[in-house]
Amino acid sequence: MRYDLIVVGAGIVGLASAYHFVKSVGGRILVLDALAGPAQGNTAKSVGGFRMGLFTSSVNRLISETTVKFYLDVQKNGYDLGIHQVGYLILLDESKYANYVKQVEEILRAGTAKLVSREELKKRVGFLELDLVDEESQLLGLRPIRGAIFSPFSGYLDVEKLANFYYEALVELGVDFRFNVKAERLRLAPLNRIGHPREPFAWQEKRIESVETSLGTFEAERFILATGAWSQELLDPLGIDSYVKPKKRQVFAVPARGGLEAFFKVDGFNEFGTMPMTFIPRGPFVAPRVRDKSLWMGLSDDIGRKWGLDFEAEDLFFVDNVYPLLRKIFPVIEGVRPQSKWAGCYSINTIDENPVAFRVMNLVVATGGSGSGVMKADSLGRIAAALALGRGDAELYGGVEVPSTLLSIHGRKVEPEMLVF
Ligand SMILES: Cc1cc2nc3c(=O)[nH]c(=O)nc-3n(C[C@H](O)[C@H](O)[C@H](O)COP(=O)(O)OP(=O)(O)OC[C@H]3O[C@@H](n4cnc5c(N)ncnc54)[C@H](O)[C@@H]3O)c2cc1C
Repeated sequence: MRYDLIVVGAGIVGLASAYHFVKSVGGRILVLDALAGPAQGNTAKSVGGFRMGLFTSSVNRLISETTVKFYLDVQKNGYDLGIHQVGYLILLDESKYANYVKQVEEILRAGTAKLVSREELKKRVGFLELDLVDEESQLLGLRPIRGAIFSPFSGYLDVEKLANFYYEALVELGVDFRFNVKAERLRLAPLNRIGHPREPFAWQEKRIESVETSLGTFEAERFILATGAWSQELLDPLGIDSYVKPKKRQVFAVPARGGLEAFFKVDGFNEFGTMPMTFIPRGPFVAPRVRDKSLWMGLSDDIGRKWGLDFEAEDLFFVDNVYPLLRKIFPVIEGVRPQSKWAGCYSINTIDENPVAFRVMNLVVATGGSGSGVMKADSLGRIAAALALGRGDAELYGGVEVPSTLLSIHGRKVEPEMLVF
């Protein structure tokens, strides 16, 4: 069976790519995934947080804003994505304040984010420790909070519902899915065969002819590789580098009882009367979940956390790293231990922490969410589909046209992202 397009990886990026391809030109499309259903990989591990443009890179801003607008409209049109616009609050100490505020001045001007003064924070969140001047704070690297950036339109969604939105539409549109099917190799072939058993030779123009899988070989006109943190497993043998590496990230959850109820009694940030999702750049985060009244916590560690695929959540990572910082900033967290935990891998673009989408031969690689792939997936999918179709421009949601090479590696003009959590 020969397909017009094979998408390897049914995570949120693969689903969005297949969706925009089939919506654009139709055709015979196969999506395959090594796991048992759609979006069971790192998409399932995601917090589902989305920031309305709250990035220091203008490219990240554009692709997140257009993606989030699309999701909001999907929900407005009747498909519940579990969106809760609780807001994002970024706490900044004196040393970071001026720099970060400057980096996001465009969205401050546009009104999609606001500054919250130290005094305002004190008034609204009585249980937040702002002073952080004692010896323990110094030791932990915490400094007095100078103020915060607040993005009221940001929040979180239910990633399973989002994945189902794309999946159901794709099934309806006649796209084939094969689950529990691992792609073992992308097979290279010469563009023009000469019938020699050892071709393709170095001097021949090449294409990907087929994908060898645990279920047999599938041929296609073109391929989109949306294998996230696993991407180099299929790219290394071909000599292609996506500059994307996996790094473990962990989430720890606890029901909000006792002192933690304070997170659900905060006025002035959102319609739910909760704390927004609260972050310290390169530090910990705490995210109140409205429906089950729980808190999700974590920390993106950098130096000392090895690159590589690792899906084991560690109790001691919470105890040694997340807890001491969060307890200091929010003393009501005293004594808290997680009731559940999980780990996944960010697919981090090691150049600038913006996604990558590029085409080599008839293969498009779309990955590098760098910890925020869900909130950029729709635009990334549109760009991947445009690249697969050989189009010079991609149309993002709302009619925004961008060159389809926007996220390519060679000739890339993308600012480094500073707001990675
Ligand atoms: C703990 C954690 C929290 C996060 N929080 C957020 C957040 O709040 N907001 C946000 O926007 N992003 C968040 N992210 C990032 C987000 O989850 C990812 O950027 C996004 O899910 C990436 O989607 P993807 O489709 O590229 O990858 P995946 O969802 O991992 O999909 C890749 C798929 O490819 C399949 N695959 C791989 N290799 C093969 C093969 N050889 N053959 C067949 N199938 C294969 C895998 O099984 C997988 O299903 C978080 C990530 C983690 C780990």
